[in-house]
Amino acid sequence: MITKPKGTYDLLGVDAKISTYISHEIEDMMANYNYELIRTPIFEATELFHRSVGENTDIVTKETYDFKDRGDRSITLRPEGTAGVVRSLIENKLYGNRNDTIKLYYNGTMYRYERPQSGRNREFTQFGIEAFNSSDPMIDAEVISIGYYLLNNLGIEATVHINSLGDAESRKKYTEALVAYLRPHIKELCSDCQKRIDTNPLRILDCKVDKDNEILKNTPKISNYLSDESKDRFKKLKSYLDILEVNYEINDKIVRGLDYYDENVWEYIADSDQVTLGGGGRYNHLVENLGGPSIPAVGFAMGIERLILNIKENIDLSNLEQMVDVYIMSVNEEEKMHALEIAQYLRLNNISCEINSNNLSLKSQFKVADNLKAKFLLILNTDDLNKGLINVKDNATKEEMKVDEAEIVDWIIGNI
Ligand code: ATP
Ligand code: MG
Repeated sequence: MITKPKGTYDLLGVDAKISTYISHEIEDMMANYNYELIRTPIFEATELFHRSVGENTDIVTKETYDFKDRGDRSITLRPEGTAGVVRSLIENKLYGNRNDTIKLYYNGTMYRYERPQSGRNREFTQFGIEAFNSSDPMIDAEVISIGYYLLNNLGIEATVHINSLGDAESRKKYTEALVAYLRPHIKELCSDCQKRIDTNPLRILDCKVDKDNEILKNTPKISNYLSDESKDRFKKLKSYLDILEVNYEINDKIVRGLDYYDENVWEYIADSDQVTLGGGGRYNHLVENLGGPSIPAVGFAMGIERLILNIKENIDLSNLEQMVDVYIMSVNEEEKMHALEIAQYLRLNNISCEINSNNLSLKSQFKVADNLKAKFLLILNTDDLNKGLINVKDNATKEEMKVDEAEIVDWIIGNI
């Protein structure tokens, strides 16, 4: 038997239904907030991720799927969505002469070579949004609130942990202070952090292994290194989040793993088990660093698999069961032909229905109809059909009645 590659999964059953439910919620919200869908390739030039996500990030040093294609080009399966969106923005000059905010979203698979565990796969799905062309913290607040209210609408209780990383100058000063504080204790931290102190010191604050280590509890605080302008942005963000009624708290350990973030950053953390469901921030220099004009931007990404896990544990799934409005029962060839024709009319009129496409016995068809929670059964039989009639059973009251075949679609629409 050929099995799936390690770290991948088949989306099946209730998980598939929750995934569809999440996608619908996303589509609805994106229309309300005026974000447009963008779909970029699943593979890109390797260089794109080295130049955006950063050479010394976990993703680029140990998690990407890199390969040479048959034309000897270096290709990488996308580990995240922002780099491709920015590449596309620049390549297609989506910014044009616009002075409004360019608001985009994606929902697609990402690839990271990680150690698989619950909520951590090698192929996974991220929903993300990106807003370009505005540095106003009001758009940061809008973006943050979209993730928060998506969770809210899905019944997931979460808190947004917010922080400011400041501009490049304050981050540099803070990083120096952090390194000076950590250097004498570095042997007491994990082996990854011993490397990070030279390559990506801020990332030490986000270390999963050392998170309860006293040394990390007493690090210098980034808030003491921010410029007045960054402080003001952060303050404005908080007042906008208050207006939007987003449940947030300030957490100076939030640094995000990728190189491109600056100023306001945040993570969505589930109240139930403290799992991080998503995160985002400002990236005011990425468009320029990738060869585009200087365009500020802000965005976040959320892991759909982690949402599915959370939803599965916390909500009533009965409304996600497979259901149809109508089940049409047929046995012989003539009945089957009528069933097929009626089913087509119903389906084209937005009535969900199922037919016996398996030559099941009547008894089995009743069972299937019950499993599908059909509201009405159309029990076709040759005698009735010859008189132009359909035998309809209301599956809740068990009441049966005859309806003219010519009227059946209207009758169902009127009684559903
Ligand atoms: P973590 O610290 O959990 O590794 P991260 O900082 O690498 O997360 P991001 O790059 O910020 O994650 O991605 C945003 C979201 O995408 C995460 O919060 C998570 O929900 C999801 N995600 C990231 N990596 C994976 C993965 N390997 N499998 C499933 N979901 C993932
Ligand atoms: Mg990670």
